[in-house]
Amino acid sequence: MRYISTRGGITPLSFKETVLMGLAEDGGLILPEAYPAVDEEVLSFWSRLSYPELALEVFSLFVDDIPLEDLRKLVFQAYATFDHPEICPLVRVGPVFILELFHGPTLAFKDIALQFLGGLFEYLLLERGARMNILGATSGDTGSAAIYGVRGRKNINIFILHPHGRVSPVQALQMTTVTDANVFNLAIEGTFDDCQAIVKAIFEDLAFKRRYHLGAVNSINWARVMAQVVYYIWAWLRLAEKGQSAVFFSVPTGNFGDIFAGYVARRILGRERIPLLMLATNENDILTRFVNQGDYSLGKVVSTISPSMDIQVASNFERYLYHLLGEDPIRVREAMEVFSREGRLRFGPEELARVREDFASVSVSQEETRETIASFYQETGYVLDPHTAVGVRAGLRLLDRGHPVVCLATAHPAKFPEAVAEAIGHPPRRPPALEGLEERPRRVTILPADIKAVKEFVAQNALL
Ligand SMILES: *Cc1c(COP(=O)(O)O)cnc(C)c1O
Repeated sequence: MRYISTRGGITPLSFKETVLMGLAEDGGLILPEAYPAVDEEVLSFWSRLSYPELALEVFSLFVDDIPLEDLRKLVFQAYATFDHPEICPLVRVGPVFILELFHGPTLAFKDIALQFLGGLFEYLLLERGARMNILGATSGDTGSAAIYGVRGRKNINIFILHPHGRVSPVQALQMTTVTDANVFNLAIEGTFDDCQAIVKAIFEDLAFKRRYHLGAVNSINWARVMAQVVYYIWAWLRLAEKGQSAVFFSVPTGNFGDIFAGYVARRILGRERIPLLMLATNENDILTRFVNQGDYSLGKVVSTISPSMDIQVASNFERYLYHLLGEDPIRVREAMEVFSREGRLRFGPEELARVREDFASVSVSQEETRETIASFYQETGYVLDPHTAVGVRAGLRLLDRGHPVVCLATAHPAKFPEAVAEAIGHPPRRPPALEGLEERPRRVTILPADIKAVKEFVAQNALL
């Protein structure tokens, strides 16, 4: 399999080159040249596999430059850290199916990709005798999943900036109680925007970036999308076993990463098997306006009780745009120029009709989110986290359309105890992974919101 850029400006890459490049050098996003299709025979073989075995099969469609035995080891190690034997169990709850994606070490779905990506980075670096220093900013979930993905790994150090005192207490503790020598938590005396601005400025200093082998693990890495494709196919297979031939998915979306993985799964399985994907957003509804009105225009970011979806510019959107614009890199480049100039893209009726063959979309308010957590709990006894509740609320709209509805549960409710308690009257039960969190030793450095201070810290602690 070869990989290309949505902007057409790179020579085709191998899978390994794709992983190490992350963002394409021409500023675009990297995609496989084609999506393999599968037939009934393959699906009936896949239906007998465990989750890691299935992941290995799906990855093999996209990876041809890593020996199968090595890939197998990476996959099995990645999912050995999960606390459920099925990795991503699909459970029937009331009128819908919940696909629990929160059984990894940080209790959010990002572990599914980052546990694998951490091992993959280590493998590729050892192979090349190279080193990497990962630098990133987080307001919560991504940072802790990245830290758990690379803790204790060889040839990688990780520096994650978070706004001091402005991350939820559970999320701050999840990060700062990781005491491995290769993990550096930097609590910045400022806001999340300050953290992001510092990271951006450091990456823009190309000499510094090269000298300290800086790398990123953001959601634009193709390997992350690829890892997420697996659970859509997994859930589809579980329902096919029960005699269902088609399944709807409802996906709480921020950066368009998770739902793009659903789109890839649909390209592999065929639209008759996944007739529609429900794109659920919170009050930050740029993607809902795109699907429903053909209006992709920047709004202001609103803080909500589902903070991991408080996003306006969806970093993976360009991947879908490439397909929507006829896989024409010139049109993608033009569109992205218009967007960066005017903060808006408009789509005509013909394009909009095609978007709506792939997606339906609903924006869910915070009031509706709380209401959904409360009523779902009253009716089924099942506690939803606020992100999952956004997806469930939207997914309920598909109930009368003839196929089962699978709602992706992207976080464990115990990660968001305040919002959940407000809805159901008491905080959710803490799973073992969070027990005694407050008593564990911590490792964190507090720094001012100052580029120079962060650069000095990185320079002193980077692997060279
Ligand atoms: C990151 C995240 C999302 C959104 O996923 P995208 O890939 O950005 O669409 C939803 N829920 C939770 C809990 C997350 O951490």
